[in-house]
Amino acid sequence: MMHDARPKVGIFGLTSCAGDQLQILNCEDELLRLAGRIDIVDWVMAKSGNDHTCRLDIAFVEGVVATERDLETLRQVRARTSFLVALGTCAVWGGLPAMRNDLPREVLEREVYSGAVDFLDTVEARPATDFVPVEYRLPGCPIERHEFLHLVDSLLAGTVPELPAVPVCFECKTRENLCRVIYFDDVCCGAMTRGGCGARCPSHGVACAGCRGPIEEPNYDANVQMFATRGISWREIATRMSNFSAPVWMTLGLRSEAHHDDH
Ligand code: SF4
Ligand code: SF4
Repeated sequence: MMHDARPKVGIFGLTSCAGDQLQILNCEDELLRLAGRIDIVDWVMAKSGNDHTCRLDIAFVEGVVATERDLETLRQVRARTSFLVALGTCAVWGGLPAMRNDLPREVLEREVYSGAVDFLDTVEARPATDFVPVEYRLPGCPIERHEFLHLVDSLLAGTVPELPAVPVCFECKTRENLCRVIYFDDVCCGAMTRGGCGARCPSHGVACAGCRGPIEEPNYDANVQMFATRGISWREIATRMSNFSAPVWMTLGLRSEAHHDDH
């Protein structure tokens, strides 16, 4: 029997909407092309006959750790692979599941389930990257298909791609959109958010919600000043940026500042 030299790949989901895995499925023809070059041995969402214990060359994991089971799954995947990719904004920054970590779990459970919460075993939602080291972080809510395909092609070539270092504003300007902040007084997170989506939202007349998480060195002070001159408060900026990357914004103290200073 011939030896299969294709790298063994696993794709996993923790607590999440599974949107990043769906994006991989949406690659369609490109996925078929990739299937000739990688051996997807463990992907519960997409196939049967999975191998849950073999060694993996590359593993992709999406979602947050929001239960003890998530943590166990994540640690098992980490132990099986030499290259782990945090897939999507939940895995990288916490995403939407972490947006209300400032409220106690009991309060959240009561609000959502009206008291009957015995069956829940959730813990504070935190990104996968808080618990295990990862070799690569691919943000996006969901991920961009072209970035995923580029990443896999690069890994097969023995390298990793650089993520865009420019903010969404850069891509927005190249599309000649009318700025949502300047012309509409919207709270647009484009100047603080990592580019790569082609400024999708402002290009459709909607302010950027920051779904790709912050760029590496956002100029918070300049942004806050710019917003303040348009009557937009700290609270609005911090709340909007916290929707997708709450842990980093809380670390920076923006949320607590927002509670004290509305101007
Ligand atoms: S609309 Fe948003 S992303 Fe576009 S230039 Fe203005 S602040 Fe930047
Ligand atoms: S414009 Fe902002 S919210 Fe919209 S896809 Fe891009 S990063 Fe996400």
